[in-house]
Formats: sequence, structure tokens, C-alpha cells
Amino acid sequence: MRAFEYHRPANLKDAVALAEKKDEGRYLAGGQSLVQAMKLRLSAPTDLVDLNALQDLKALKVEPGAVTVGAMVRHAEVASSSSVLKTLPALAALAGQIGDRQVRHLGTIGGSLANNDPAADYPAAVLGLGATITTNKRKIEGDKFFKGLYETALQPGELITAVTFPVPKRAAYMKFKNPASRFAIVGVFVADFGGGNVRVGVTGAGPCAFRQSEMEQALKKNFAPDSVAGIKVSPDGLNNDLHASPEYRAHLITIMAKRAVEAALK
Ligand SMILES: Cc1cc2nc3c(=O)[nH]c(=O)nc-3n(C[C@H](O)[C@H](O)[C@H](O)COP(=O)(O)OP(=O)(O)OC[C@H]3O[C@@H](n4cnc5c(N)ncnc54)[C@H](O)[C@@H]3O)c2cc1C
Repeated sequence: MRAFEYHRPANLKDAVALAEKKDEGRYLAGGQSLVQAMKLRLSAPTDLVDLNALQDLKALKVEPGAVTVGAMVRHAEVASSSSVLKTLPALAALAGQIGDRQVRHLGTIGGSLANNDPAADYPAAVLGLGATITTNKRKIEGDKFFKGLYETALQPGELITAVTFPVPKRAAYMKFKNPASRFAIVGVFVADFGGGNVRVGVTGAGPCAFRQSEMEQALKKNFAPDSVAGIKVSPDGLNNDLHASPEYRAHLITIMAKRAVEAALK
């Protein structure tokens, strides 16, 4: 790890000003991705701007039509919140499947989305639910947020403050996980908002999360497991690593989608 300056601002304005002023300033949330990257010297920020004193980023607001999760809300809090469990249980279930207990108590939604790991779980929910990402500068539609491998629509110094998830009629997330890290080899989030508005978000399979439009069209006609069971996904462009081939990942998208629809109907 290379030497860096540590800052702990007390408010949002100071945090943004610090990150923008420094050569290589980076925000520090739970450190679950950033600190590892620094140890491996894949990332060498000159300055770390710790967000842990910013109380405004820790709010979790549940309304009848929307769940808004502050950027610094830990995965464990989303997983165990009685109001999220009641209003948007699929999101709580997804958060409860992230990593292990330690990761869930330190990792944050803001850090997860800004990092945009191809195997992260929250991106599937952002696309599957059509979430909106609020930053210190603007609101970004979830569909326009993920740009590629570890790449997002965020500009240098831009800070995620919260993520708002619309509440669907029914939804579920299914993941085939890496048994060691528990990251998604493939994860599929399916949501039915009624009136033919169905969304399918896929993570783990490609360089970043994406929507599966063929499945969305099939589920619009009939929201049933059989509607997706016969869809053969092309392996073109899907990830190929020691965990799974593109062909295996393509197959898993169909299987996870079918299971997610089954779970959403229960
Ligand atoms: C062993 C292990 C297993 C894991 N398993 C899973 C899993 O199964 N599924 C899964 O989804 N994830 C998994 N993770 C990742 C975990 O969910 C963390 O959320 C993720 O690593 C981000 O960590 P963090 O919130 O601590 O952010 P940090 O590591 O502190 O920051 C990550 C990046 O985001 C930036 N950042 C942080 N907050 C903001 C913000 N508000 N605005 C703008 N930029 C910001 C930082 O500058 C940095 O570049 C795992 C991690 C570990 C270590």
C-alpha cells in the first residue's frame, strides 16, 4: 500500500470539496473493495475522504411506493430492516446474500454501485427495479448508470448520496454464487410492476449488469416461469473466467430467471 492522507469531513460539502481538490482523492465507505485494491496497489489514491461521519448518507426511508437507501447504509441494515422486509422483501433478501457477515456489516450500497464490480448483487436490483441514483450533482437513471467493467456514469469527485427503488407488485432475486466469495457467478432480479411493466436485471454474466429484454417481453405476455424457461441466451460477450465459461453463464441466466419468477409468484 502506498502512503496517503486521511480526511474525515463532517459534512457533504467538505467531503466533495476535499475529493475534488486532491490529485487522486477517493471516497472511503466501508473499505471492502477499496482497501484491498490499495493493498494490491491496483489503486493508489493520494487522499482518502472517509464518509463515515456523514449522517445524512445513513438514512433508510421506506414509503409505500419507494425505498430510498442512503449511500452509507450497510448491506446488513437493508437485509434486516423490518420496513424493507415488508415493503420490498426481494431487496432485503438480495442484501442478505451479499458476501459474509463482516462484509454485510461494513459494505455499503454507495460503495458497491460506485465500484461496479461485474459480480456485485445490487446492480441487478438497480436495473430490475428501475432505480434512480442520486448524487451531489444530479439524479441518474439506473439504466444509464453502468457503463462497463468497473465503469459508471459518475464523474470524478461525484458522490452518490442515495438510491431510490420503486416498489413493484412482486419481485425476486436469484443468484448462483461463487461458494468462496459469494459474489454472483450469475444473478437475476425479476420485477413485475403490473400493466405489462416487467424488468429483468442480470449481474455476474457480463462486464457489467444489463437488462434481458427478450425475457422482459416474454414475461410481459405471461408472468410465469415457463415464459423464460425456453429462452436460450447467447454466450457472446459474456464473461469467461476460471469460475464459468460464457456458455455456462448463458445457461445460468435462463435457470436463475426461471427460479426468480417462481419465487416472485410465491
Ligand atoms: C470477501 C468479500 C465478499 C464479497 N461478496 C460480495 C457479494 O457476494 N456480492 C456483492 O455485491 N458484493 C460483495 N462484496 C463487495 C461488498 O458488497 C462491498 O459493498 C463493496 O466491496 C463496496 O465496498 P464499500 O461499500 O466498503 O466501499 P469502498 O470499498 O469503501 O469503496 C469502493 C469504491 O466506491 C467509491 N465510493 C464509496 N462510496 C461512494 C459514494 N457514496 N459515492 C461515490 N463513490 C463512492 C470509493 O471511492 C471506491 O472507489 C464482497 C466483498 C468482499 C471483501
